[in-house]
Amino acid sequence: MAVATREAMLYEKMSHSRTRCNVCQWRCVINPDKMGVCRMRQNKNGIIYTLNYAQASSVAVDPIEKKPLFHFHPGTLVFSLGGWGCNFHCQGCQNWQISCVDMAQPEAGSRTISPEQAIEMAKQNHCQGIAWTYNEPTMWFEYTLDSAELAKKNDLYTVYVTNGYATPEALDALGPYLDAWRVDVKGFSDELYRRVAKISHWRGILEVARRARHKWNMHVEVVTNIIPTLNDDDQQLEGIARWIKNELGELTPWHITRFHPQYQMMDLPPTPISTIEHAYEIGQKAGLKFIYAGNIPGHHSESTVCYSCGKTAVERFGYQARVAGLDGSKCKFCGAELNFRPSGNARRSS
Ligand code: SF4
Repeated sequence: MAVATREAMLYEKMSHSRTRCNVCQWRCVINPDKMGVCRMRQNKNGIIYTLNYAQASSVAVDPIEKKPLFHFHPGTLVFSLGGWGCNFHCQGCQNWQISCVDMAQPEAGSRTISPEQAIEMAKQNHCQGIAWTYNEPTMWFEYTLDSAELAKKNDLYTVYVTNGYATPEALDALGPYLDAWRVDVKGFSDELYRRVAKISHWRGILEVARRARHKWNMHVEVVTNIIPTLNDDDQQLEGIARWIKNELGELTPWHITRFHPQYQMMDLPPTPISTIEHAYEIGQKAGLKFIYAGNIPGHHSESTVCYSCGKTAVERFGYQARVAGLDGSKCKFCGAELNFRPSGNARRSS
């Protein structure tokens, strides 16, 4: 694979040819000839280069519901692109084959897709938007920024499926061109983030999500993968649910998904459905209006039911969605605000 090298954005030059990368909250200080924690950015003679511009690991046409995004252009197809690498090292990573790589020794299977080609492919495949997903999108930040700008010029919506560890500066660069911030909040304790993701200072994730919502008016949905013994205690679940309600608003969707053993977490069992039901109740008690159980096809929470009149606004089964009762962002039957971003009005509908 050809390594796609170009000068990075958002870095500072320091003494003795050292550099500091400000794309994610690691804010790595990188010595000459060394790489950042993500192994995607390298200091060469005092300049940081990204090694993976436009290098895709995965390409698919997905229902938007698969991200999961339930209140954002329901029923549409999204052109989904994954790159390489990650700034987290999660023991239960679902996509470790593409996340745990080193661009100095790149894997086979990479494909160069320029921003122009990505937009063209999205249109050819009848997609209404484009998502950077499967691995952490800030890993190819410059590429997603160029692509998002071009996507907006072509009337496509834009989505980040992210661990949320971008810096405020990175978010602000993306802000004018990014419509949705689908963020993981993995738990609500230092211990959890240290153990699961090897991150010490995780609270910046919450601040950046708030900023995405309030400064940039992005559509935000939160996912918590509930892992037995790690983040299934009431204290953490209540902490997440209350934070969503207080900081993002009661109409923000919270996806509570079932964990399945994988990668370095094969010793844990799948999440019992009773645990997901309990988390659901915790979300309801906290005042959240839209809580969705994930990885349980056919679960009663899959569809969106209006909290005001009790009628179904969007009917779902798995990744299939049928809009049954929406009028813009509101319930068609009673007019209650349901926080939907409908097609053709991505930034201004809520
Ligand atoms: S993007 Fe990579 S190099 Fe930059 S701060 Fe994050 S982990 Fe470090």
